Amino acid sequence: MPHLQQALFVVRHFKQTLRLTIYISTIFAATLLLGFRLLTNPVTITGHLKKNPKDSSAFVERVSIFVKGDNKVLAQTISDDKGNFTLTFTPRQEKSFDFYCRGLGIDTILIASFKSFESDTPDILFYIPGLRKKNSLGKTICPKCNKADKVYKIVYSDGIPDHFDDDTKVRKQNANPNIIDGEYYAGTCIVGVSKYFCDRDKVEF
Ligand SMILES: [Zn+2]
Repeated sequence: MPHLQQALFVVRHFKQTLRLTIYISTIFAATLLLGFRLLTNPVTITGHLKKNPKDSSAFVERVSIFVKGDNKVLAQTISDDKGNFTLTFTPRQEKSFDFYCRGLGIDTILIASFKSFESDTPDILFYIPGLRKKNSLGKTICPKCNKADKVYKIVYSDGIPDHFDDDTKVRKQNANPNIIDGEYYAGTCIVGVSKYFCDRDKVEF
C-alpha cells in the first residue's frame, strides 16, 4: 500500500511539473513570436524618379522626397542629378507608406502609396506626377484611399472666389472652403503639377 501511495505521489508530481513546463514554454514561445513581430527589418528603397510621359513639366533632379506613415515623416532625402535616391526606414504597424515630392515647380505632391513592400530592398520607379488611375466609371481615384468620391480637380487661381447660393444669395458654407462646385481651389497662382485633390486624405496628386 505505501508503495502505491508513493507511486501515485510521483505521478501527480510529474503531472504538475509537466503542466508547469508546458505553461512556461507557451509563454516563452508567445514572447518570442511577438518579439519577432515587433522587431521588423528596416526597408531600404532604391528609387528612380521619372517624368510622367503625360505631363513632363516637373523636374526629377534634386527633388525633395519623403515617405510618411500614419502622417509621420519616416524618412526623407533629395534625388541626385539623375533622379535616383535611396530611403531607409523601419516599418511598424503603419496603414500605408505614402511617398511625396517637393521641389522646383512642384507643390507637395503624393506620387505613390504602398500598403507593404515585397522585400526589404525594393527597387521602385516613381513618376512625377504619379500615374493617375481611374475607376470603372472613369473617375480619377486617389492613390492613398483608392476612392474617387472625395477627389476634386485642382484649380490654380490667385485667391479663392466668393461663392453665393444662386437662390438665397447667401455665401455658401463648405466643410472645406477651398472646394467650390466640385473643384478644389489651390489658392495659389503658381501652377503646380498636381491636378487632383483628395479631401479625405488632404493630399494633392
Ligand atoms: Zn484619398
